Amino acid sequence: DLAPNDLDAFWMPFTANRAFKKNPRMIAGAKDMHYVTPEGRKILDGVAGLWCCNAGHGRKPIVEAIQKQAAELDYSPAFQFGHPKAFQLASRIAALAPADLDHVFFANSGSEAVDTALKIALAYWNVKGQGQKTRLIGRERGYHGVGFGGISVGGIVSNRKFFGSLLAGVDHLPHTYNRAEQAFSRGEPEWGAHLADELERIVTLHDASTVAAVIVEPMAGSTGVLPPPKGYLKRLREICDKHGILLIFDEVISGFGRLGYAFAAERYGVVPDMITFAKAVNSGTVPMGGVIARKGIYDAFMNGPDSVIELFHGYTYSGHPLAAAAGLATLDLYREEQLFERARALEPKWIDAMMSLKGLPNVLDIRAIGLVGAIDLASKPDAVGKRAFEAMDLGFRDHDLMIRITGETIAVTPPLIISEEQIGELVDKLGKIIKAVA
Ligand code: PMP
Repeated sequence: DLAPNDLDAFWMPFTANRAFKKNPRMIAGAKDMHYVTPEGRKILDGVAGLWCCNAGHGRKPIVEAIQKQAAELDYSPAFQFGHPKAFQLASRIAALAPADLDHVFFANSGSEAVDTALKIALAYWNVKGQGQKTRLIGRERGYHGVGFGGISVGGIVSNRKFFGSLLAGVDHLPHTYNRAEQAFSRGEPEWGAHLADELERIVTLHDASTVAAVIVEPMAGSTGVLPPPKGYLKRLREICDKHGILLIFDEVISGFGRLGYAFAAERYGVVPDMITFAKAVNSGTVPMGGVIARKGIYDAFMNGPDSVIELFHGYTYSGHPLAAAAGLATLDLYREEQLFERARALEPKWIDAMMSLKGLPNVLDIRAIGLVGAIDLASKPDAVGKRAFEAMDLGFRDHDLMIRITGETIAVTPPLIISEEQIGELVDKLGKIIKAVA
């Protein structure tokens, strides 16, 4: 029941309204693996919402936990007061994180989580009496949300170029993938380590004593699903250790089972100093994000000089009761249904299914890992992104499938409850869509 002006009233991400107004794609409900349109059409969710609804939609225990919490305690002021569920959820998240990443700072989104982690890194060095360590290092094509910290360390041009005031003192590692390099990497097992050595070059250029932290997504997600080349993350860790630099993994996408483990850090066997998370922590139900920090970082603030008391950072909704209750119910569900292990077990079948699309018209490359898949399509000669956009549009309209696109890449990241049969259905739909946009 939308009035014509309603489509202008809700300003979607900057330029999105233009395309949306021509062809609105509305959803009104969701259950398990499907979205439902206002007309009642069931749409297969190929993206877990936006890489967040890992437990599927409308799961009873999560819904009931949110309802109960809303009736019991709607809000708890974040700074001087606590409520038990936020503390319990922090412990549960810490238990899933590797090594001594034992302390959780809650925010409300991935972007806030990233800005929080960068601020913790800078404050940490200050607290340690090394306030000269102010430089931050991100990566080309890295996506770290849209806060000013996140776009500064991020490496996507369109996220940066219209905004003058980026953080000063930020460098970017080269991105880790293009097709030629990928081919090269197949015959060169330690290729990833060579690429990570670029960090050594940047650090040497500026003097290690000025560098505070490096932030990377273990697997670059939003810029096309780029798993790290072999040896890459390990070498970053070694170089950070050598120079006393904090290593931050942005696991907003990869956290909570997407790659078959609680965190990608575990999959790749590399322990960062901080992990940022959001999205799937409560299966996308109530906004929540956060940072998991190593014990030594927490201790520096707890035992630091008195001047630490002047330090402030936090959000009105940090550890919000509804988000925390949803988080506890979600982690229970992940455990009871063994959804991380399930993703790991399904991975070989998932990869086979994705790779079966190779050879279709305009398919340049396909990548699959965990329960993530990406298909690079060739651009139409005059319009970058057009073919992928058409695929997304057509998928929703004619094939009852929701996918995500970035540039000319189609990304699929279904809820972890997807059945083998539904994987077949998803890939079948993808094949039809790709042929249709040839
Ligand atoms: N970091 C990464 C790696 C992300 O993928 C995203 C969102 N896709 C963010 C940060 C930002 O999260 P949010 O949109 O919740 O602010």
